[in-house]
Amino acid sequence: MAKVFKFGGASVKDANGVRNLERIVRMESGDLMVVVSAMGKTTNALERVLESLAAGKDEQALGQWVEIIDQHVAIMKELGLQPGVDVRLQGEIPYDSARTYDENYDQLVSMGEIMSTQIIAVYLLKQGIPVEWWNMPKLLRTDDTWREAQVDNATSAATIRAGWDRPNRPRVVIAQGFIGGTEDGRRTTLGREGSDYTAALMGNYLDAESVTIWKDVPGILNADPRLEPDTILIPKLRYADAVELSYSGAQIIHPKTIRPLENKRIPLYVKPFGEPTATGSCISDETKEPINVPVYIWRKNQILITMRAKDFAFVLEESLSEIFDIIHHHRLKVSLIQSSAVTISVCVDNTRFVPEAIKALNEHFLVTYNDHLSLLTIRGTTPEILERASNGRIVMLSQTTRRTARFVIKES
Ligand code: ASP
Ligand code: MG
Repeated sequence: MAKVFKFGGASVKDANGVRNLERIVRMESGDLMVVVSAMGKTTNALERVLESLAAGKDEQALGQWVEIIDQHVAIMKELGLQPGVDVRLQGEIPYDSARTYDENYDQLVSMGEIMSTQIIAVYLLKQGIPVEWWNMPKLLRTDDTWREAQVDNATSAATIRAGWDRPNRPRVVIAQGFIGGTEDGRRTTLGREGSDYTAALMGNYLDAESVTIWKDVPGILNADPRLEPDTILIPKLRYADAVELSYSGAQIIHPKTIRPLENKRIPLYVKPFGEPTATGSCISDETKEPINVPVYIWRKNQILITMRAKDFAFVLEESLSEIFDIIHHHRLKVSLIQSSAVTISVCVDNTRFVPEAIKALNEHFLVTYNDHLSLLTIRGTTPEILERASNGRIVMLSQTTRRTARFVIKES
Protein backbone atom coordinates (compact mmCIF):
# COMPACT_ATOMS: atom_id res chain seq x y z
CA MET A 1 0.00 0.00 0.00
CA ALA A 2 1.15 3.49 -0.79
CA LYS A 3 1.98 6.29 1.55
CA VAL A 4 1.63 9.94 0.68
CA PHE A 5 4.16 12.48 1.96
CA LYS A 6 3.65 16.20 1.63
CA PHE A 7 6.43 18.76 1.98
CA GLY A 8 5.49 22.42 2.30
CA GLY A 9 7.47 25.44 1.17
CA ALA A 10 9.30 25.84 4.48
CA SER A 11 10.62 22.28 4.38
CA VAL A 12 12.14 22.70 0.90
CA LYS A 13 13.22 26.30 1.18
CA ASP A 14 16.90 25.60 0.46
CA ALA A 15 19.39 22.88 -0.49
CA ASN A 16 19.48 21.55 3.07
CA GLY A 17 15.73 21.20 3.02
CA VAL A 18 15.94 19.14 -0.17
CA ARG A 19 18.63 16.93 1.37
CA ASN A 20 16.43 16.46 4.40
CA LEU A 21 13.56 15.46 2.13
CA GLU A 22 15.88 12.89 0.60
CA ARG A 23 16.68 11.54 4.05
CA ILE A 24 12.97 11.19 4.89
CA VAL A 25 12.18 9.55 1.54
CA ARG A 26 14.98 7.05 2.15
CA MET A 27 13.41 6.03 5.45
CA GLU A 28 10.59 4.47 3.44
CA SER A 29 11.01 1.29 1.49
CA GLY A 30 7.51 1.02 -0.02
CA ASP A 31 5.64 3.00 -2.66
CA LEU A 32 5.66 6.70 -2.00
CA MET A 33 3.72 9.58 -3.49
CA VAL A 34 5.57 12.79 -2.63
CA VAL A 35 3.60 16.03 -2.98
CA VAL A 36 5.69 19.19 -2.87
CA SER A 37 4.94 22.93 -2.65
CA ALA A 38 6.93 25.78 -4.12
CA MET A 39 10.24 26.45 -2.40
CA GLY A 40 10.16 28.86 0.55
CA LYS A 41 8.28 32.04 -0.25
CA THR A 42 8.29 31.54 -4.02
CA THR A 43 4.51 31.74 -4.33
CA ASN A 44 4.45 35.20 -2.75
CA ALA A 45 7.30 36.31 -4.99
CA LEU A 46 5.47 35.09 -8.10
CA GLU A 47 2.37 36.97 -6.99
CA ARG A 48 4.48 40.12 -6.93
CA VAL A 49 5.70 39.49 -10.47
CA LEU A 50 2.10 39.32 -11.61
CA GLU A 51 1.20 42.51 -9.76
CA SER A 52 4.03 44.32 -11.51
CA LEU A 53 2.99 43.03 -14.91
CA ALA A 54 -0.64 43.93 -14.34
CA ALA A 55 0.45 47.44 -13.37
CA GLY A 56 2.41 47.73 -16.63
CA LYS A 57 5.76 47.70 -14.82
CA ASP A 58 7.39 45.19 -17.14
CA GLU A 59 10.94 46.07 -16.23
CA GLN A 60 10.29 45.60 -12.53
CA ALA A 61 8.50 42.32 -13.20
CA LEU A 62 11.41 41.01 -15.18
CA GLY A 63 13.79 41.86 -12.35
CA GLN A 64 11.60 40.06 -9.85
CA TRP A 65 11.29 37.05 -12.14
CA VAL A 66 15.02 36.82 -12.70
CA GLU A 67 15.54 36.95 -8.96
CA ILE A 68 13.24 33.96 -8.48
CA ILE A 69 15.01 32.01 -11.22
CA ASP A 70 18.37 32.90 -9.69
CA GLN A 71 17.30 31.58 -6.30
CA HIS A 72 16.38 28.26 -7.88
CA VAL A 73 19.62 28.17 -9.83
CA ALA A 74 21.57 28.76 -6.62
CA ILE A 75 19.79 25.86 -4.91
CA MET A 76 20.44 23.60 -7.89
CA LYS A 77 24.13 24.43 -7.83
CA GLU A 78 24.33 23.75 -4.13
CA LEU A 79 22.75 20.37 -4.79
CA GLY A 80 25.37 19.62 -7.42
CA LEU A 81 22.94 19.96 -10.33
CA GLN A 82 23.70 21.72 -13.58
CA PRO A 83 21.17 24.43 -14.37
CA GLY A 84 20.16 24.31 -18.02
CA VAL A 85 21.34 20.70 -18.32
CA ASP A 86 19.73 18.74 -15.48
CA VAL A 87 16.75 21.07 -15.27
CA ARG A 88 15.84 23.70 -17.82
CA LEU A 89 13.98 26.43 -16.03
CA GLN A 90 11.38 28.45 -17.88
CA GLY A 91 12.98 31.46 -19.59
CA GLU A 92 10.02 33.64 -20.36
CA ILE A 93 7.40 34.75 -17.90
CA PRO A 94 4.18 32.89 -18.68
CA TYR A 95 1.94 35.93 -19.05
CA ASP A 96 -0.49 37.11 -21.69
CA SER A 97 -2.08 40.54 -21.36
CA ALA A 98 -5.10 39.31 -23.33
CA ARG A 99 -6.01 36.98 -20.45
CA THR A 100 -7.73 38.02 -17.23
CA TYR A 101 -5.68 38.72 -14.11
CA ASP A 102 -6.86 35.54 -12.44
CA GLU A 103 -6.10 33.33 -15.41
CA ASN A 104 -2.63 34.83 -15.65
CA TYR A 105 -2.26 34.22 -11.94
CA ASP A 106 -2.69 30.50 -12.40
CA GLN A 107 -0.37 30.27 -15.41
CA LEU A 108 2.36 32.22 -13.64
CA VAL A 109 2.07 31.33 -9.96
CA SER A 110 1.90 27.59 -10.71
CA MET A 111 5.51 27.82 -11.92
CA GLY A 112 6.72 27.71 -8.30
CA GLU A 113 5.58 24.12 -7.85
CA ILE A 114 6.75 23.13 -11.34
CA MET A 115 10.27 24.36 -10.57
CA SER A 116 10.51 22.90 -7.08
CA THR A 117 9.38 19.44 -8.18
CA GLN A 118 11.64 19.40 -11.24
CA ILE A 119 14.66 20.19 -9.12
CA ILE A 120 13.77 17.70 -6.41
CA ALA A 121 12.97 14.89 -8.85
CA VAL A 122 16.25 15.27 -10.72
CA TYR A 123 18.19 15.54 -7.48
CA LEU A 124 16.68 12.34 -6.05
CA LEU A 125 17.28 10.53 -9.31
CA LYS A 126 20.93 11.55 -9.20
CA GLN A 127 21.14 10.23 -5.66
CA GLY A 128 20.04 6.84 -6.95
CA ILE A 129 16.42 6.92 -5.84
CA PRO A 130 14.02 5.58 -8.47
CA VAL A 131 11.65 8.50 -9.04
CA GLU A 132 9.25 9.78 -11.63
CA TRP A 133 8.16 13.40 -12.03
CA TRP A 134 4.45 13.92 -12.52
CA ASN A 135 2.94 16.95 -14.19
CA MET A 136 -0.24 17.61 -12.22
CA PRO A 137 -1.77 20.11 -14.69
CA LYS A 138 -2.16 17.09 -16.97
CA LEU A 139 -3.29 14.69 -14.24
CA LEU A 140 -5.42 16.60 -11.78
CA ARG A 141 -8.40 17.77 -13.80
CA THR A 142 -10.17 20.92 -12.62
CA ASP A 143 -12.64 23.44 -13.94
CA ASP A 144 -11.45 26.94 -14.83
CA THR A 145 -12.40 28.73 -11.64
CA TRP A 146 -9.04 30.46 -11.65
CA ARG A 147 -7.25 30.64 -8.31
CA GLU A 148 -9.79 28.35 -6.67
CA ALA A 149 -10.22 25.62 -9.21
CA GLN A 150 -12.71 22.88 -8.40
CA VAL A 151 -11.35 19.38 -8.83
CA ASP A 152 -13.10 16.83 -11.05
CA ASN A 153 -12.53 13.85 -8.80
CA ALA A 154 -13.84 11.13 -11.09
CA THR A 155 -11.57 12.06 -13.99
CA SER A 156 -8.57 12.82 -11.80
CA ALA A 157 -8.85 9.64 -9.77
CA ALA A 158 -9.01 7.51 -12.92
CA THR A 159 -6.01 9.21 -14.54
CA ILE A 160 -3.89 9.18 -11.39
CA ARG A 161 -4.82 5.62 -10.53
CA ALA A 162 -3.87 4.49 -14.05
CA GLY A 163 -0.49 6.22 -13.79
CA TRP A 164 0.12 4.74 -10.39
CA ASP A 165 -0.88 1.18 -11.28
CA ARG A 166 1.31 1.15 -14.39
CA PRO A 167 3.76 -1.75 -14.43
CA ASN A 168 7.36 -0.63 -13.86
CA ARG A 169 6.42 2.66 -12.28
CA PRO A 170 9.36 3.78 -10.16
CA ARG A 171 8.81 3.40 -6.43
CA VAL A 172 8.72 7.13 -5.74
CA VAL A 173 6.61 9.72 -7.55
CA ILE A 174 7.17 13.46 -7.17
CA ALA A 175 4.11 15.60 -7.86
CA GLN A 176 3.18 19.25 -7.43
CA GLY A 177 0.75 20.26 -4.74
CA PHE A 178 -1.62 23.18 -5.25
CA ILE A 179 -1.92 22.97 -9.03
CA GLY A 180 -4.04 21.18 -11.61
CA GLY A 181 -5.23 21.83 -15.13
CA THR A 182 -8.28 22.27 -17.31
CA GLU A 183 -9.42 19.94 -20.03
CA ASP A 184 -7.90 22.25 -22.63
CA GLY A 185 -4.51 22.19 -20.98
CA ARG A 186 -4.30 25.42 -19.00
CA ARG A 187 -2.81 25.35 -15.52
CA THR A 188 -4.99 26.11 -12.51
CA THR A 189 -4.40 26.59 -8.78
CA LEU A 190 -6.53 25.30 -5.92
CA GLY A 191 -6.27 28.25 -3.53
CA ARG A 192 -3.36 29.40 -1.37
CA GLU A 193 -1.83 26.71 0.83
CA GLY A 194 -3.63 24.12 -1.27
CA SER A 195 -0.87 21.50 -1.30
CA ASP A 196 -2.26 19.77 1.76
CA TYR A 197 -5.49 19.34 -0.13
CA THR A 198 -3.63 17.80 -3.09
CA ALA A 199 -1.94 15.36 -0.72
CA ALA A 200 -5.31 14.38 0.73
CA LEU A 201 -6.77 13.85 -2.75
CA MET A 202 -3.82 11.66 -3.66
CA GLY A 203 -4.34 9.66 -0.49
CA ASN A 204 -7.98 9.19 -1.42
CA TYR A 205 -7.35 8.26 -5.08
CA LEU A 206 -4.60 5.80 -4.23
CA ASP A 207 -6.34 4.33 -1.18
CA ALA A 208 -3.19 5.16 0.70
CA GLU A 209 -2.27 3.62 3.99
CA SER A 210 -1.60 7.11 5.40
CA VAL A 211 -0.82 10.71 4.50
CA THR A 212 1.97 12.57 6.29
CA ILE A 213 2.43 16.32 6.24
CA TRP A 214 6.02 17.26 7.12
CA LYS A 215 6.11 20.64 8.81
CA ASP A 216 8.33 23.03 10.70
CA VAL A 217 6.46 22.38 13.96
CA PRO A 218 6.45 19.28 16.21
CA GLY A 219 2.86 18.43 15.19
CA ILE A 220 -0.50 19.96 15.98
CA LEU A 221 -0.16 22.25 18.96
CA ASN A 222 -2.85 23.76 21.14
CA ALA A 223 -1.77 27.27 20.11
CA ASP A 224 0.42 29.01 17.58
CA PRO A 225 3.96 28.92 19.02
CA ARG A 226 4.65 32.32 17.45
CA LEU A 227 1.87 33.82 19.57
CA GLU A 228 1.80 31.78 22.77
CA PRO A 229 4.87 30.92 24.81
CA ASP A 230 3.71 27.58 26.25
CA THR A 231 2.25 25.24 23.72
CA ILE A 232 1.21 21.61 24.14
CA LEU A 233 1.41 18.95 21.44
CA ILE A 234 -1.88 17.18 20.72
CA PRO A 235 -0.85 13.63 19.81
CA LYS A 236 -4.23 12.29 18.70
CA LEU A 237 -7.18 14.04 17.15
CA ARG A 238 -10.48 13.02 15.65
CA TYR A 239 -11.27 14.12 12.09
CA ALA A 240 -14.00 16.36 13.47
CA ASP A 241 -11.49 18.13 15.75
CA ALA A 242 -9.14 18.71 12.86
CA VAL A 243 -11.89 20.18 10.69
CA GLU A 244 -12.91 22.45 13.50
CA LEU A 245 -9.35 23.58 14.16
CA SER A 246 -8.49 24.31 10.56
CA TYR A 247 -11.79 26.05 9.97
CA SER A 248 -11.23 28.26 13.01
CA GLY A 249 -8.01 29.41 11.41
CA ALA A 250 -5.33 27.05 12.69
CA GLN A 251 -2.68 27.35 9.98
CA ILE A 252 -1.57 23.82 10.42
CA ILE A 253 -3.63 22.17 7.69
CA HIS A 254 -5.72 23.46 4.83
CA PRO A 255 -9.44 23.18 5.70
CA LYS A 256 -10.20 21.09 2.61
CA THR A 257 -7.71 18.41 3.62
CA ILE A 258 -9.82 16.35 5.97
CA ARG A 259 -12.80 15.35 3.89
CA PRO A 260 -11.04 13.20 1.25
CA LEU A 261 -9.25 11.36 4.06
CA GLU A 262 -12.19 10.94 6.40
CA ASN A 263 -14.19 9.48 3.50
CA LYS A 264 -11.78 6.60 3.30
CA ARG A 265 -10.67 6.50 6.93
CA ILE A 266 -7.08 7.31 6.01
CA PRO A 267 -5.02 8.59 8.94
CA LEU A 268 -3.27 11.94 8.57
CA TYR A 269 0.03 12.47 10.36
CA VAL A 270 1.57 15.86 10.99
CA LYS A 271 5.26 15.51 11.77
CA PRO A 272 8.32 17.71 12.18
CA PHE A 273 10.60 17.51 9.17
CA GLY A 274 13.57 18.29 11.35
CA GLU A 275 12.98 15.23 13.50
CA PRO A 276 11.47 12.57 11.25
CA THR A 277 11.30 9.83 13.88
CA ALA A 278 9.21 11.93 16.28
CA THR A 279 5.59 10.79 16.63
CA GLY A 280 3.97 14.15 15.89
CA SER A 281 0.19 14.20 15.70
CA CYS A 282 -2.21 11.72 14.18
CA ILE A 283 -5.70 12.56 12.93
CA SER A 284 -7.84 9.47 12.56
CA ASP A 285 -10.98 7.75 13.77
CA GLU A 286 -8.96 5.67 16.15
CA THR A 287 -9.49 8.17 18.97
CA LYS A 288 -12.96 8.82 20.23
CA GLU A 289 -11.97 11.34 22.86
CA PRO A 290 -12.20 15.06 22.22
CA ILE A 291 -9.08 17.15 22.77
CA ASN A 292 -8.58 17.64 26.50
CA VAL A 293 -6.47 20.78 26.64
CA PRO A 294 -7.62 24.31 25.87
CA VAL A 295 -6.95 25.17 22.23
CA TYR A 296 -6.34 28.70 20.98
CA ILE A 297 -6.84 29.50 17.34
CA TRP A 298 -6.44 32.81 15.59
CA ARG A 299 -8.03 33.59 12.29
CA LYS A 300 -6.46 36.82 11.08
CA ASN A 301 -7.48 39.45 8.57
CA GLN A 302 -11.19 39.40 9.26
CA ILE A 303 -13.84 41.93 8.42
CA LEU A 304 -17.13 42.18 10.29
CA ILE A 305 -20.00 43.18 8.03
CA THR A 306 -23.29 44.20 9.61
CA MET A 307 -26.48 44.37 7.59
CA ARG A 308 -29.56 46.16 8.76
CA ALA A 309 -32.86 45.92 6.92
CA LYS A 310 -33.84 49.23 5.40
CA ASP A 311 -37.48 49.06 6.41
CA PHE A 312 -37.29 47.48 9.87
CA ALA A 313 -37.89 44.06 8.40
CA PHE A 314 -36.84 41.14 10.51
CA VAL A 315 -33.66 40.14 8.69
CA LEU A 316 -33.56 36.62 9.98
CA GLU A 317 -37.03 35.84 8.78
CA GLU A 318 -37.07 37.71 5.53
CA SER A 319 -33.62 38.25 4.14
CA LEU A 320 -31.43 35.37 5.18
CA SER A 321 -31.43 33.57 1.86
CA GLU A 322 -30.78 36.80 -0.03
CA ILE A 323 -27.79 37.57 2.15
CA PHE A 324 -26.35 34.13 1.74
CA ASP A 325 -26.88 34.14 -1.99
CA ILE A 326 -24.75 37.26 -2.22
CA ILE A 327 -22.15 35.84 0.14
CA HIS A 328 -21.96 32.63 -1.82
CA HIS A 329 -21.91 34.35 -5.19
CA HIS A 330 -18.98 36.54 -4.13
CA ARG A 331 -17.08 33.61 -2.65
CA LEU A 332 -16.84 35.10 0.83
CA LYS A 333 -15.55 32.78 3.53
CA VAL A 334 -17.72 33.18 6.61
CA SER A 335 -16.10 32.55 9.97
CA LEU A 336 -18.91 33.62 12.31
CA ILE A 337 -22.50 34.84 12.23
CA GLN A 338 -24.50 36.76 14.81
CA SER A 339 -27.94 38.27 14.59
CA SER A 340 -30.42 40.51 16.37
CA ALA A 341 -33.99 41.39 15.44
CA VAL A 342 -33.09 43.75 12.65
CA THR A 343 -29.41 43.13 11.98
CA ILE A 344 -27.20 40.30 10.98
CA SER A 345 -23.42 40.42 11.29
CA VAL A 346 -21.06 38.12 9.46
CA CYS A 347 -17.38 37.89 10.07
CA VAL A 348 -15.53 36.93 6.88
CA ASP A 349 -11.98 36.61 5.62
CA ASN A 350 -11.02 39.99 4.20
CA THR A 351 -10.23 38.77 0.69
CA ARG A 352 -10.16 40.59 -2.61
CA PHE A 353 -13.81 39.60 -3.15
CA VAL A 354 -15.10 41.64 -0.21
CA PRO A 355 -15.50 45.11 -1.81
CA GLU A 356 -17.77 43.82 -4.59
CA ALA A 357 -19.81 41.82 -2.10
CA ILE A 358 -20.32 44.88 0.09
CA LYS A 359 -21.48 46.80 -2.96
CA ALA A 360 -24.04 44.12 -3.70
CA LEU A 361 -25.22 43.95 -0.09
CA ASN A 362 -25.53 47.71 -0.04
CA GLU A 363 -28.23 47.56 -2.66
CA HIS A 364 -30.54 45.79 -0.25
CA PHE A 365 -29.38 46.67 3.25
CA LEU A 366 -27.75 49.36 5.32
CA VAL A 367 -24.26 47.99 5.54
CA THR A 368 -21.55 48.92 8.00
CA TYR A 369 -18.27 47.18 8.53
CA ASN A 370 -15.11 47.02 10.62
CA ASP A 371 -11.88 45.65 9.28
CA HIS A 372 -8.44 44.87 10.75
CA LEU A 373 -10.00 42.27 12.98
CA SER A 374 -8.98 38.85 14.19
CA LEU A 375 -11.16 36.00 15.30
CA LEU A 376 -9.91 34.19 18.38
CA THR A 377 -11.50 30.81 19.05
CA ILE A 378 -10.82 29.09 22.35
CA ARG A 379 -11.96 25.51 22.69
CA GLY A 380 -12.15 23.87 26.07
CA THR A 381 -12.37 27.18 27.81
CA THR A 382 -12.74 28.00 31.53
CA PRO A 383 -13.82 31.24 33.23
CA GLU A 384 -10.17 32.10 33.98
CA ILE A 385 -9.15 31.59 30.39
CA LEU A 386 -12.03 33.74 29.22
CA GLU A 387 -11.07 36.48 31.59
CA ARG A 388 -7.48 36.44 30.41
CA ALA A 389 -8.36 36.28 26.72
CA SER A 390 -10.51 39.38 26.64
CA ASN A 391 -8.33 41.32 29.05
CA GLY A 392 -6.84 44.46 27.48
CA ARG A 393 -8.33 43.68 24.09
CA ILE A 394 -11.00 45.48 22.16
CA VAL A 395 -13.67 42.85 21.66
CA MET A 396 -16.13 43.79 18.92
CA LEU A 397 -18.28 40.73 19.36
CA SER A 398 -18.20 37.53 21.34
CA GLN A 399 -19.98 34.21 21.32
CA THR A 400 -19.57 31.69 24.06
CA THR A 401 -20.97 28.28 24.69
CA ARG A 402 -20.09 26.00 27.55
CA ARG A 403 -16.89 24.74 25.92
CA THR A 404 -16.05 27.22 23.20
CA ALA A 405 -15.54 30.97 23.16
CA ARG A 406 -15.08 33.14 20.11
CA PHE A 407 -13.99 36.74 20.13
CA VAL A 408 -13.80 39.16 17.26
CA ILE A 409 -10.93 41.37 18.30
CA LYS A 410 -9.54 44.62 16.95
CA GLU A 411 -6.00 44.03 15.75
CA SER A 412 -3.57 46.16 17.73
N1 ASP B 1 2.79 27.19 -2.73
C1 ASP B 1 1.40 27.41 -2.45
C2 ASP B 1 1.26 28.52 -1.42
O1 ASP B 1 2.24 28.96 -0.87
C3 ASP B 1 0.69 26.17 -2.02
C4 ASP B 1 1.12 25.60 -0.69
O2 ASP B 1 2.17 25.95 -0.16
O3 ASP B 1 0.39 24.78 -0.15
O4 ASP B 1 0.17 28.95 -1.19
MG1 MG C 1 3.10 26.93 1.62
